[in-house]
Amino acid sequence: MPASRACSSHQLVSMATRRASKRGTERSTSAKRGATAKRGVKAAKGGAKTAQSGAKAAKKRPSSAKRSSSTRRPGSTGGSRSGKPSSSSNRAQASRSAPLAEYNRKRDFTRTAEPAGKVPKRVGRALHFVIQKHAASHLHYDFRLELDGVMKSWAVPKGPSLDPSVRRLAMEVEDHPISYNTFEGTIPAGEYGGGTVMLWDRGTYEAEDGGGVEALRRGYEKGDLKFVLHGERLRGSWVLVRMQRPGRPQWLLIKHRDDEADARRDITGEETTSVVTDRSMDEIASGRRVWHSNRS
Ligand code: MN
Repeated sequence: MPASRACSSHQLVSMATRRASKRGTERSTSAKRGATAKRGVKAAKGGAKTAQSGAKAAKKRPSSAKRSSSTRRPGSTGGSRSGKPSSSSNRAQASRSAPLAEYNRKRDFTRTAEPAGKVPKRVGRALHFVIQKHAASHLHYDFRLELDGVMKSWAVPKGPSLDPSVRRLAMEVEDHPISYNTFEGTIPAGEYGGGTVMLWDRGTYEAEDGGGVEALRRGYEKGDLKFVLHGERLRGSWVLVRMQRPGRPQWLLIKHRDDEADARRDITGEETTSVVTDRSMDEIASGRRVWHSNRS
């Protein structure tokens, strides 16, 4: 089964976290801090200057040639809807041509209460985001942004920081269905992502430059996604910057400097309950929402 062949996103969290801590990617004060990460940010910043002409910027970036061998091709943005078959056997590309296929493949919906992945025909104008605190084998925060009928998803081991000098590793994982935005509960042990899931924040978001969904698509493809969150706990301007590394895309989640930035606050330390039900992780875990529909 693909589950064993594919490296699960939760394994990725632990693997990449180990790598990141070795390299010191997330230590904002360290002088050696993520040389690779810095390059990624720099490259993205260079691109940002010409953000008005996304295609031009992409051409200029030396990395775009390398990227073309992976899944991040500019111009393939609409792929999630087109269903166009791909000649490549690249797994991520395959999942792109069939929205949520990877999400569905990894889960047994007779065993988990998570929703099956479907792309709704109609999506409201306001784009939503959700952050789920997930106590899987390694605690992380799943950061999800709605785009083209799915939730683009990143696993952020340390969660978001309001300090603009802090760069939080964000590992891109498979797209999730929009219906996942209301999921809070427990994924049974042994199932993919087994553990407790808390709705940590939610709200709407938009492109920072006011360019709407086109700007968001362009930003995602370029690996320089600037957006404004209108959540209950997270607000203001943020950026996700893709790093130039082989393998599954790793990004950095960074708070931009604005009125919502605050280097003194520890938002994940302060906010430890569900933004929807006000429950703690323990209370969610003991909520008996584990669902075994067909256990014999
Ligand atoms: Mn997760």
